Amino acid sequence: MAENKENLKMEAIVSLCKRRGFIFQSSEIYGGINGFWDYGPLGCELKKNVKDSWWKRTVRLREDVEGLDATIIMHPDIWRASGHAAGFADPMVDCKDCRKRFRADQLCEEQGLQLVKTATGFALPEGCKCTACGSTNLTEPRAFNLMFKTFVGPVEDENSVAYLRPDTAQAIFAEFGNVLSTSRQAVPFGIAQVGKSFRNEINPRNFTFRSREFEQMELEYFIKPDEAVELICGHVAKLTPETDLSEPQADWGWEIWHRYWVEQRRQWLIDVGLPPETIVEYWQKPDELAHYARACVDFEYTFPFGTQELEGIAARSDFDLTQHQVHSGKSMEVFDEQLKNAVAALDDAARAAFREKTVAEWVSRGKDPEKAAAFVDRLFEGKYIPHVIEPSAGADRMTLALICDAYAEEEVPNDKGKKDVRTVLRFSPKVAPVKVAVFPLVKNKPELYAKAREIFKTLRAEWNCFWDESGAIGRRYRRQDEAGTPFCVTVDFDTLENGTVTVRDRDTMRQERVTVEDLVRKIRAAVG
Ligand code: ATP
Repeated sequence: MAENKENLKMEAIVSLCKRRGFIFQSSEIYGGINGFWDYGPLGCELKKNVKDSWWKRTVRLREDVEGLDATIIMHPDIWRASGHAAGFADPMVDCKDCRKRFRADQLCEEQGLQLVKTATGFALPEGCKCTACGSTNLTEPRAFNLMFKTFVGPVEDENSVAYLRPDTAQAIFAEFGNVLSTSRQAVPFGIAQVGKSFRNEINPRNFTFRSREFEQMELEYFIKPDEAVELICGHVAKLTPETDLSEPQADWGWEIWHRYWVEQRRQWLIDVGLPPETIVEYWQKPDELAHYARACVDFEYTFPFGTQELEGIAARSDFDLTQHQVHSGKSMEVFDEQLKNAVAALDDAARAAFREKTVAEWVSRGKDPEKAAAFVDRLFEGKYIPHVIEPSAGADRMTLALICDAYAEEEVPNDKGKKDVRTVLRFSPKVAPVKVAVFPLVKNKPELYAKAREIFKTLRAEWNCFWDESGAIGRRYRRQDEAGTPFCVTVDFDTLENGTVTVRDRDTMRQERVTVEDLVRKIRAAVG
């Protein structure tokens, strides 16, 4: 029953998105194309506000993060280095009876079962059946690479194969050296990118949640290895419940940096309008972590179709830059003056003790002692490959979460004393696609109309505004409620007399008379 109600809510949201121009099925006039979505006039403003807010908080307001806008098609060796060419695959199964295709892990999950890991891949557990027709006549799970392939240049052969990027992160690693040498940054610092990514998802679903073309907002934040921090500061700060995460400190190791970014990201989710109690923090268990990752936290949101990932914050060690160093033959090491000076201040005994301790630690983590010794040698020269903390978010999932969270239907009394259903999107004014709508009370009074146009133009210089001159004021309010517009302004005869307008608040539905100057102040305070 509850599930049914949630399905109905999702249907109502999808229908509102189409009706009001938030999101359309791509290529709809040709029957649509599965897993691709277009953002209409309101949707593209909303998504742009989400991305702009991310960019402002992650790049503009920080001195230690630089931006990047790289190409979607890159050298195919990037995907060999990153592991995507060989391993970016989901297990796929087909129903031999109805021919429907599923992601094996999702098919199992829906039936409360778990996909079985085998030495060579995966196997379906006992009792797993097709959720479309009920048949148990299913193929074995087989790996399906999610990257879209294309050809660069006129010849379509193996040498011209290229891929549409499946994430925005790898370009950041590939451009690490160029950004570092041109930006006057030093580790710790970050590089951020917002842009399109493509994944040939086996089973795109849940509206825009799982699409084949989507946008990511990713930050790679490069930090010193803990061993370098220890040499420079004499210790690595321990993460405790009392650790103050407000300002980065020189003695932070990866664990505190990771937690710092988790908190930074949580703040942003709240800032764009998700109520804190709707955000679920999920710490991946050791067997869920990628082999190179030390920790990964997912922020999840409870959509009508279930609690699902919005973004992940992973501590990825030096895996990515090391891979690119190995595959490109170009050094990804940085030279750290502070480290070099700290090492110079140590005597031979202290260095020997540090070497012994570090090698023992690496060996206890199952690493090769020779590699550990070589790492220490490089550290003693002031050199290392930076480690990375990666907050990786999806602009479409975030936009969808904001729409789902904002959506409300409520009963309000109408003029005839009966009840109407009011559909309203309670977006935070910061991300609302339209900030203010302006209505002339009547359109056949030239002086009043001209005054309303003048006010509209003043507001439009600063915010996305909407002009509506048709229908009863009540109906105009309803239209703006469905668009999530926080303020509606009516220009009437009193405006001509005393310069005041009526401003109506979307959430309280209260109206007040204010001067245009006060109106501007009010909107500015809400929108930021
Ligand atoms: P999932 O497990 O849901 O497939 P993922 O763990 O593979 O996601 P990442 O590779 O960590 O996702 O990508 C980072 C972010 O990019 C995700 O948190 C999500 O917001 C977004 N994202 C990934 N795949 C998709 C998709 N197919 N459609 C929309 N957004 C996506």
